[in-house]
Amino acid sequence: MAFAHVCLWTLLAFVLTWTVFYVTNRKKKATELADAAAEERRNGADVIIVGAGVGGSALAYALAKDGRRVHVIERDMREPERMMGEFMQPGGRLMLSKLGLQDCLDGIDAQKATGMAVYKDGKEAVASFPVDNNNFPYDPSARSFHNGRFVQSLRQKASSLSSVRLEEGTVKSLIEEKGVIKGVTYKNKAGEETTALAPLTVVCDGCYSNLRRSLNNNNAEVLSYQVGYISKNCRLDDPENLHLIMSKPSSIMLYQLSSTDVRCGFELFPDNFPSIAKGEMTTFAKNTLAPQVPPKLRKIFLKGLDEGAHIKAVPAKRMTATLSNKKGVIVLGDAFNMRHPSVAAGMMVLLSDILILRRLLQPLSNLGDANKVSEVIKSFYSIRKPMSATVNTLGTAFSQVLIASTDEAKEAMRQGCYDYLCSGGFRTSGMMALLGGMNPRPISLIYHLCAITLHSIGHLLSPFPSPIRIWHSLRLFGLALKMLVPHLKAEGVSQMLFPANAAAYRKSYMAASVF
Ligand SMILES: Cc1cc2nc3c(=O)[nH]c(=O)nc-3n(C[C@H](O)[C@H](O)[C@H](O)COP(=O)(O)OP(=O)(O)OC[C@H]3O[C@@H](n4cnc5c(N)ncnc54)[C@H](O)[C@@H]3O)c2cc1C
Repeated sequence: MAFAHVCLWTLLAFVLTWTVFYVTNRKKKATELADAAAEERRNGADVIIVGAGVGGSALAYALAKDGRRVHVIERDMREPERMMGEFMQPGGRLMLSKLGLQDCLDGIDAQKATGMAVYKDGKEAVASFPVDNNNFPYDPSARSFHNGRFVQSLRQKASSLSSVRLEEGTVKSLIEEKGVIKGVTYKNKAGEETTALAPLTVVCDGCYSNLRRSLNNNNAEVLSYQVGYISKNCRLDDPENLHLIMSKPSSIMLYQLSSTDVRCGFELFPDNFPSIAKGEMTTFAKNTLAPQVPPKLRKIFLKGLDEGAHIKAVPAKRMTATLSNKKGVIVLGDAFNMRHPSVAAGMMVLLSDILILRRLLQPLSNLGDANKVSEVIKSFYSIRKPMSATVNTLGTAFSQVLIASTDEAKEAMRQGCYDYLCSGGFRTSGMMALLGGMNPRPISLIYHLCAITLHSIGHLLSPFPSPIRIWHSLRLFGLALKMLVPHLKAEGVSQMLFPANAAAYRKSYMAASVF
């Protein structure tokens, strides 16, 4: 009996001690968090940005210029070595200049590109960015460069501002209280787990984002793989054009990446993917692709392969933009929206998003009002639609017509696209203005896509419309609809075309620079 009493009292004492410990500890943690929040309010940031890639760095600079205190957390400060984001369209350069970041393309050995040389079945034509586009108030040329050099340049520019704190650390999770994001937990350079709090958190952690999963259930779809390598110490005969070869099974691209390096790349699909490690990819590129590369480019295409250049493969993903219902947080860049890289426009859309967001946030003196910030995010989502949906849809359409096929209807569409793009005059300039982001308007996109479809049907029916040709034409029309309608639906046709939003966007996009 006495023993049972002792046991009972010991148990009670244990439960009591544990409860006291637990309550004290929770209180301590809550006090610590409140203290940290108070400390952050005094000395801390207005905005936390996760990731100092293209988007995070550019946004940090833009917000700091508007007087915000910005804390950027980037997991790796070394120069990235990536095969993405190497081509900045003229429209992207305009955005950079509006953000005051145009000099980030200086001193990185960026190469000027005035258009595209397109090759198909032994024919070639040059399609240039239009130089007399009155709607485009900037130099109509693109730039190609090593992405890592550009990212470092953006990081340097952002951290040159005293209100930007760029810290190396890996963000582990978002801190959430009652549906509002309060900040992040992260591991700093010393390996310590710590927190950062701010009224607004921007998730800009790229295409492999882990954090977006806690904000929405958006899933990226892998469409294909971009395979590429660099041929070193060489120059293209025509370095001011990106060279696009409409080969089989899919297209090949070459462009001057720096004064001495040429990027060679091609697209492959998972069902036909030779092993890079076993050397099968090199053999495939040499035996299947190289013979289709025009002789004047072939030597450079083979140079990298012969010299054992490092071959990389990167997934090409598509992900439509979705709003998170959490407050106090914005997702941007590839973590938010992705399109096929055939149109090389991810950075342009991202910079345009930053410009729109910055302008919408400017009137808010205090970012602590989560409801007001939520309203801004909703407006941002609809104002960005005309431009982003145009580029996303163009990416889908352009990537699909580049794929070779034994289907006559598909092949006619591919031929029609080549003829249209390379025909000169308003067709070429219209398509190049779209591809270069110089006129990213939905109505222009729809016009040119319909025109390409009709042009392809005309090509199929000539010289006279036999029953089989009529049948293929109908199939081609069906294919064009199948290619576009689901995509336009997913993007939201009404938001894309709703004139109020389009007008708001154009105002934001084309307005004279105020920075
Ligand atoms: C094959 C391919 C080719 C492309 N080519 C082009 C092109 O030619 N032109 C073009 O305009 N666009 C191109 N794009 C798209 C373009 O590269 C992207 O849209 C752009 O880089 C996205 O920028 P971002 O800031 O969202 O992400 P990123 O530039 O990838 O930056 C993300 C940053 O977040 C950091 N990070 C990630 N997780 C964490 C974490 N947990 N904590 C802290 N930091 C973290 C990363 O280290 C990185 O620095 C291409 C895409 C692909 C796939």
